[in-house]
Amino acid sequence: MRSTARVVVVGGGVVGASVLYHLAKAGWTEAMLIERDELTCGSTWHAAGGMHTVNGDPNVARLQQYTINLYREIERISGQSCGVHLTGGLMLAGTRERLDWLKMAQARGRYLGMELEMLTVEEAARRFPLLDKRHFVGAMFDPVEGHVDPYGVTHAYAKSAQIAGAEVVRHTRVLDLKPRTDGTWDVITDHGNVHAEHVVNAGGLWAREVGRMVGLELPILAMEHQYLITEEVPQIAGLPEQLHCIDFEGELYLREERGGMLLGTYERAGMPWSPAETPWDFAQSLLPNDLDRIAPSLEVAFEHFPALGEVGVRKVVNGPFTFAPDGNPLVGPVKGLRNFWVACGVMAGFSQGGGVGLALSQWMVNGDPGSDIWAMDVARYGDWATLAYTNAKVRENYSRRFRIRFPNEELPAGRPLRTTPIYDRLTAAHAVFGEYCGLEHPLWFAPSAAGAQEDVTFHRSNAHAHVAEECRAVRERVGLLETSNYGKIEISGPGAGEWLSRMMANRVPPVGRIALTPMLNDRGKLIGDFTMCRLAADRVLLIGTLAAESYYLRWFERHLPPSGVSVRACAMEYVGLSVAGPEARGLLQSLVRADLSNSAFPFLTFRRVDIGMIPALVGRISFTGELGYEIWVSPDYQRALYELLVDAGAGRGLKPFGARALNCMRIEKGFGNWAREFRPIYGPYEAGLGRFVTLEKGDFVGRSAAIEERSRGGEMRLVSFAVNAADADAIGDEPVWHDGRVVGWVTSGAYGHRTGRSLALGYVPAAVAAAGAGFEIEIIGERRPAERLAACAYDPSGARMRS
Ligand SMILES: Cc1cc2nc3c(=O)[nH]c(=O)nc-3n(C[C@H](O)[C@H](O)[C@H](O)COP(=O)(O)OP(=O)(O)OC[C@H]3O[C@@H](n4cnc5c(N)ncnc54)[C@H](O)[C@@H]3O)c2cc1C
Repeated sequence: MRSTARVVVVGGGVVGASVLYHLAKAGWTEAMLIERDELTCGSTWHAAGGMHTVNGDPNVARLQQYTINLYREIERISGQSCGVHLTGGLMLAGTRERLDWLKMAQARGRYLGMELEMLTVEEAARRFPLLDKRHFVGAMFDPVEGHVDPYGVTHAYAKSAQIAGAEVVRHTRVLDLKPRTDGTWDVITDHGNVHAEHVVNAGGLWAREVGRMVGLELPILAMEHQYLITEEVPQIAGLPEQLHCIDFEGELYLREERGGMLLGTYERAGMPWSPAETPWDFAQSLLPNDLDRIAPSLEVAFEHFPALGEVGVRKVVNGPFTFAPDGNPLVGPVKGLRNFWVACGVMAGFSQGGGVGLALSQWMVNGDPGSDIWAMDVARYGDWATLAYTNAKVRENYSRRFRIRFPNEELPAGRPLRTTPIYDRLTAAHAVFGEYCGLEHPLWFAPSAAGAQEDVTFHRSNAHAHVAEECRAVRERVGLLETSNYGKIEISGPGAGEWLSRMMANRVPPVGRIALTPMLNDRGKLIGDFTMCRLAADRVLLIGTLAAESYYLRWFERHLPPSGVSVRACAMEYVGLSVAGPEARGLLQSLVRADLSNSAFPFLTFRRVDIGMIPALVGRISFTGELGYEIWVSPDYQRALYELLVDAGAGRGLKPFGARALNCMRIEKGFGNWAREFRPIYGPYEAGLGRFVTLEKGDFVGRSAAIEERSRGGEMRLVSFAVNAADADAIGDEPVWHDGRVVGWVTSGAYGHRTGRSLALGYVPAAVAAAGAGFEIEIIGERRPAERLAACAYDPSGARMRS
């Protein structure tokens, strides 16, 4: 074992081996992988090895495609077979809703270049003769599905990395990780120490324990998972290898294994394994079988696939593997730690391992993951994702693995966790809540407690009419919205203004003013969008996305000067209420001494104002497109503020509104959202944010790339569409067709109640964007005519919010 390395990868499962391979391939050949036992001894060795490209997040789906295509490459380099069986796969639908879900997955696959095919039940039964047609209504076929040999894949990665110069050390346990002041690490093992510039935690089942070595509590939990392999099934003898098959309603997956069938299930009563601490003496081990736990799923299996009930069981496997609360991997550098990276929580190592290795290696070598991996970024979780929260959410996610998550569906586990002081007031007003970063926030308001529940559906729900009323109140009178779920970061110190000017694409506003700004990375891509509120010469409050707080802080940390600037997350120190609508000024003016007239308090003003007895920060800004004010107070004042506004608003027809109405209204205005319209794959001009990029102010991060984007015009354009929809609106990720070809994708959609039109925002190639006609948006399998709007659908001049 070398005593120095550029990087030490802790863990020799499929993920660690992939990371090592990709680092070596990218030129970091002084990379070393340390494995405490044999390669694959954690969760990798007993995996069923299934792989597929379909994923709810298109960017993760792309990395899954990459992973599957990589196997030929590592086989060629290493000479080690990966045991690839590319059989193709069937996804079976047992209900109309599932069929709709499959149609939506097929549509999304179109712009990802996936050739997914919808099948009738008859056709599905022809291709997969074990199924009983009576239980199904249709199916989807994916040619890029199959299974691999977990041992072969892991060793092929490791050998390919070794051929490139990397080192693999086995039977050596990393006991501790000690940072040096220069950001490098002493890796303490039971066979001596290694001094490494970087450390990657690919500890799989022990990733939590490796994280704890550096004071990190990663939101990961291992769940027990069982599959069984049957004796030979006579009905498939002599046939070509059976397809992979997912039976969603049965919550089962199947594939052929040596003439028998491998049958796995994600049972509802899933069982966490080692919820607090993973034992170190667990290696190449399995857990005791518990067929009783999966008996209900087996009964369904024998009904849906009767031949399986007629043969014996050859083998049962019960093994643990890890999940993050949302089931996606945790990848990337960790805020607060220098040169420490994670690649863990990978629950589908054979679909995702290659993509995880690629993204992480690019991030380490080039400073950027090279693609949009927000869905896998470790920074999407904050302090609220504790061990117990993770436990509740992972169990929920596991039990729902094969269930539909409707676009308007809120899941109950681990709630309520974070609430604001007016939670009970909003409950009394019949709010239907959503959860975001563990925080409850109102989605819409029902007329009665009994009605405060939303039907989950791909179509317009029972909320539709109530959301329409909320939008009407905002357009005609005044609405009241809780805005506490925005992220807030305070930048202070004598160097705050100058530093922020370098970090942001727009000019930092003068004291008392607001400026909207994109934040760009070195490649000129969008990595944030903020409202900058200048409180004082040396203090700026950034208002942005709560879920991206750690993501922003990690970026700021990397760029902070040694002194003169402090950065502090302060999301819940400021809770918020916003009033919006033509009566908003009158309402607020009745409660304050300050002059709120348009000349004294114009659009984009930000000031300390006393509202009644309450000290508040008030910003004149609008996400609804109407005259609006955002009011920020410390939590101890929020109840008083709420009551004051509700009392004073009673005579003006004030109505509370929630996130659903806000979403409709911001789409009518063409206003983008982080993680939907604004992501690191788009430049500011593509995203319609060019007016907030001030090239002439001097240098800032991403400026030269932004200049280039402006001169070339960018590849894609964010545009607004009015869709000829029926009873279902676009929600996001639908393909956009033009002249019979898929040219782009939808990022958000909703019914615009103020405009009376179904609307969508989406990206299309710049050359196509100029066309007004010929567009279609595919909603639940139907191509609906769509008009590309020349400007946003509502008040394009912005007169209503500025007057
Ligand atoms: C029953 C079952 C079926 C599955 N089926 C599939 C499937 O069909 N398809 C699919 O894609 N996935 C499947 N999986 C999931 C798959 O196994 C995981 O996604 C994958 O194994 C994760 O790999 P990993 O490298 O992250 O973790 P692990 O395999 O757990 O590897 C982590 C490694 O790190 C080492 N390590 C940890 N700490 C230290 C330390 N301090 N010092 C040195 N070494 C250390 C461990 O010894 C271990 O070898 C299945 C899992 C189970 C249990």
